[in-house]
Amino acid sequence: MNFTSYVGKVFVVESNKAIIRDEQFRKQTYKTGEEIPPGKNVGDVKIIPQRTEVQVLDVKADSDRHTYVLAAAADTEKPFGWTDCMNLEGQFKNETAGLAPAKWDLPPRGTNMTCVDTKAFVREGPPDFTSKGTTIPFKSFVAITETSPDRKHVKVSNIKIVQGEIEMGEEIGWTVASNLKDGCADFYFTDEWADQKGPNACWRKGQYIGPKLLVNIVGVGGEMEQITVDSLDAYIKLKDAAEQDNIPLGIHSAFRTFERQAQLFRLFKAGKGNLAAQPGSSNHQHGQAFDLNTLKNKFNGSDKVYEWLKRNGPSLGFVRTVSKESWHWEYRPEDAKELAAAGKFKMPGVSDS
Ligand SMILES: [Zn+2]
Repeated sequence: MNFTSYVGKVFVVESNKAIIRDEQFRKQTYKTGEEIPPGKNVGDVKIIPQRTEVQVLDVKADSDRHTYVLAAAADTEKPFGWTDCMNLEGQFKNETAGLAPAKWDLPPRGTNMTCVDTKAFVREGPPDFTSKGTTIPFKSFVAITETSPDRKHVKVSNIKIVQGEIEMGEEIGWTVASNLKDGCADFYFTDEWADQKGPNACWRKGQYIGPKLLVNIVGVGGEMEQITVDSLDAYIKLKDAAEQDNIPLGIHSAFRTFERQAQLFRLFKAGKGNLAAQPGSSNHQHGQAFDLNTLKNKFNGSDKVYEWLKRNGPSLGFVRTVSKESWHWEYRPEDAKELAAAGKFKMPGVSDS
């Protein structure tokens, strides 16, 4: 999985007003003594020239969740500065920008893990996996070297992390897979991770169901969105397939924190926002729901993103689940398989009349 998809890519500055900003996103101006391009004067706002090829060195969002990129010329590491992601061709849509919140020694790769259980017993190998009585140190980082066929047990070794890479240490032995969490991070032991209304907390049907890893992804209009890591691959496959058919699929709203859902619910109650479920009961709170850009994208009198999703969503795991919300699609692979086989795309009972 690629949590920073922009690395190694070249983007073209499409806007002729690609203003250069500082770390706090304040506009920068040319100062006396600086190299000033022809046609510009001291005091003018700095811009990255239109059609410049740039690489992106870093990504962050402002307090309104709008995304900015730290851009450098494609052939140098020296950045121009920060600029609005909307200035780039493609508007940086669907680029992933790290885990949220991002405090990782090593992000998840499916093999490097943190021991999150205080009683993670070391076990003999198959078939019995008998406990040896010793445990893997709580909070330690390990690497998986082998997995049992039923995936319930894993064999691990100690690791050290040297300059962002794993250095393998001695073999520990087998343990129960659920004693470990993906990625190497102290974050698993923070109040934020444990907070039932915190940034990673997931809720389903009014119940707290535990925290999940989240990845930042740029939505339509440059808003920084989040999706759960467990639905990242499925979404990327969907948008890649759409891209192949020249359909500009993007996200309006995906994962919402408890706080965000509460805010939307308050707006709805005050008559100032769209219909929003009570905090805790929205399918946007556990990684399943995606509001996609089916609106304002008309083609021959119909919505081309919607028409594409109807044809291709179910075979890629996505189905429509809410009446009168053509934009709301959910990643439900089991249901999608059944609907695809029946040539349908809506769950039973979903209607637009
Ligand atoms: Zn929705």
